[in-house]
Amino acid sequence: MLIELLEEYFQREEPHRERDYFYVSEVGKCPRQIFYAVKGFPRPPLDGQTARKLAVGEEAHRRIVQAMYELGIVVAVEAPIPPGALFHGRADAIVSLSGKNYVVEIKTVHPYNFDQMAIAPRRDHYLQLQLYLHYLQIPQGIILAENKATQELREFVVELDRPEVNRVLAEFEALRELIFVRGELPPLPDKTDWEYDQCKYCPFADFCRKDMREIPRPEASLEVPAEPPVLPEPYEREIRVLGLFDEL
Ligand code: SF4
Repeated sequence: MLIELLEEYFQREEPHRERDYFYVSEVGKCPRQIFYAVKGFPRPPLDGQTARKLAVGEEAHRRIVQAMYELGIVVAVEAPIPPGALFHGRADAIVSLSGKNYVVEIKTVHPYNFDQMAIAPRRDHYLQLQLYLHYLQIPQGIILAENKATQELREFVVELDRPEVNRVLAEFEALRELIFVRGELPPLPDKTDWEYDQCKYCPFADFCRKDMREIPRPEASLEVPAEPPVLPEPYEREIRVLGLFDEL
């Protein structure tokens, strides 16, 4: 009863449009999935539960940033990568601690992943922070993780890792050439390095299975007919006067 109303309230269409750059959050993602995202292939609407989970993460970000403001350590928030770069993205915050600036990436993580991060950050989080360190020219940063279930915090202080940054930049330069210049669909990926099975949650799995390279045309039944339908009297006359959606 109420749940159905709330589900409908929270679910939303994900905007999909073509772009010619990558997001920092795409580091570590399947290259085929990136192809479908940058080419603007349609994806199913975001269901209510996933939308609410995202809202909880955004709320945690706001709470932590607010606390850092009140501590008087914030230098900047939502710091953007300079325009024209291969990647687009905004670092969550830059803080000053003991006279040094640090880029801070805030991550809210599932309890299982939080336990996996006992001694080291997740690889995709590490690489995303590395890109921010590179583009913002700040040689150190902090990955701050909050357990979604218990609000326990964990932090990892990392230094700029130049070899890894160069490797990621070279990898995405090659992907840029493949997708944007040659317009090719990347081959099926080697999944051995994946931290989880991305195919299981992939919104583009149907397109991938069929090796699709072009956005499918809308169903013929949804296309607007070239000629208006011929309706029997009296409806023909009424519709011309009133319009199709007026009450007859
Ligand atoms: S189904 Fe798997 S291989 Fe295909 S695009 Fe999605 S994540 Fe990549």
